[in-house]
Amino acid sequence: MPKAPRDLGDALEWMASEGGDATSAVLDAVRLHGAASRSEVAERTGFGRAVVTQRVAELIAAGLLDEGEGVSTGGRPARRLRFRSDAGLLLTADLGATSIDVALAQLDATVLAHRSEPADVANGPEVILGRVHELFGELLSERDPTPAVWGIGIGVPGPVEFGTGRPIAPPIMPGWNEYPIRAEFEARYGAPVWVDNDVNIMAMGDWRLGAARGHRNVVFVKIGTGIGAGLISDGVLHRGAQGAAGDVGHIQVADDRSVTCRCGNVGCLEALAGGQAVARDAELVARAGRSPRLAALLEREGHLSAESVAWSASHGDPASVELLNRSAALVGSMLASVVNVFNPSLIVIGGGVSRAGDSFLAAIRETVYRRSLPLATRDLRIVRSELGEQGGVMGAAAMVADELFSREQLAATLARIPIDPAGGGIGDAGLRPGRPEPAAVGGPAAGR
Ligand SMILES: [Zn+2]
Repeated sequence: MPKAPRDLGDALEWMASEGGDATSAVLDAVRLHGAASRSEVAERTGFGRAVVTQRVAELIAAGLLDEGEGVSTGGRPARRLRFRSDAGLLLTADLGATSIDVALAQLDATVLAHRSEPADVANGPEVILGRVHELFGELLSERDPTPAVWGIGIGVPGPVEFGTGRPIAPPIMPGWNEYPIRAEFEARYGAPVWVDNDVNIMAMGDWRLGAARGHRNVVFVKIGTGIGAGLISDGVLHRGAQGAAGDVGHIQVADDRSVTCRCGNVGCLEALAGGQAVARDAELVARAGRSPRLAALLEREGHLSAESVAWSASHGDPASVELLNRSAALVGSMLASVVNVFNPSLIVIGGGVSRAGDSFLAAIRETVYRRSLPLATRDLRIVRSELGEQGGVMGAAAMVADELFSREQLAATLARIPIDPAGGGIGDAGLRPGRPEPAAVGGPAAGR
């Protein structure tokens, strides 16, 4: 049986505050923890049967829950409540340094349609977001009738002020500083919009849908061109005072003054162990004649990437194995410090370089277990992300769903859902014609 989502202390605190909080908690007990009977929901939330019954009735009327026959355990089978993940649709975009991914997703972050293409985020917001609008338009136009969008989630490769949905001084995104991404998308689609750092949305994806499900203290590390982390702290994504939490790529891990990081400092993890650093060092190795395989690749391609090093390592090239092991050891030494500060129960490794093979993960593990305090590593697991290349768009959908159904937003979300007069909740997948024109719908996030 799934673990209770929140402890009794939290439940009592909610009961003492707004009544609407109970509706959100009841919904989450089914939405995040699977189909349940009313008494299981009461158990999961700590609320009494009367409160649960009333809130369940509201949520069924709104079309967010429905119920079917359960499995009989002797007597009359208890009716099972189910979250209607097909009740509405979300649009999400995961903007990387060199790519755009967009998706149309259900409320449980199941991806219905996905597009991915190369792009340079340094081209600026007009070009990149203009392309996102075109791709969103394609995803919507493939469905007939054109669906109403319940919410939009966007990840960007830099720090974000979550409350306003604007990037703040992003180092690799010239022209994006304080760009009003949320305001632009809300005005265009008439739906609420949330923007976050790309690593945070990947962490959300693995927490809601992947390897980190059920854990309350998680470090998600993305090792791609750059390196960053998303932190789940006691069941909440920890963004920090300025949205810069988890920027572990700029922790100093060596005294090496030969390479200056893009942040201006020396010895940063990212400048020594990120995908770009691995590629740079591989080219030096190839030119020095220390790896015939890398030299051949360099000659053919004109440049090397972390992926070519991983490929070469998987074919037994000792110099490539050594390059990846050095990267993994530096990542491990950073993580050992993070483990001592943060005491997670799980570390998830994601991003392009993480797919380099088992020895890469093993080298990270070895360093973390050797250098962290024994108590902090007693039950610590270190695993690879399960979500692959759609992790970002799935995580963005999970973030939007969490926000739409949060204590703060649920009332506004329910107010915007068209109720089916026949009492069956929402029409087919929320696609009913006759829904108010998007422009006429006020986003709940307005004024935030
Ligand atoms: Zn740096």
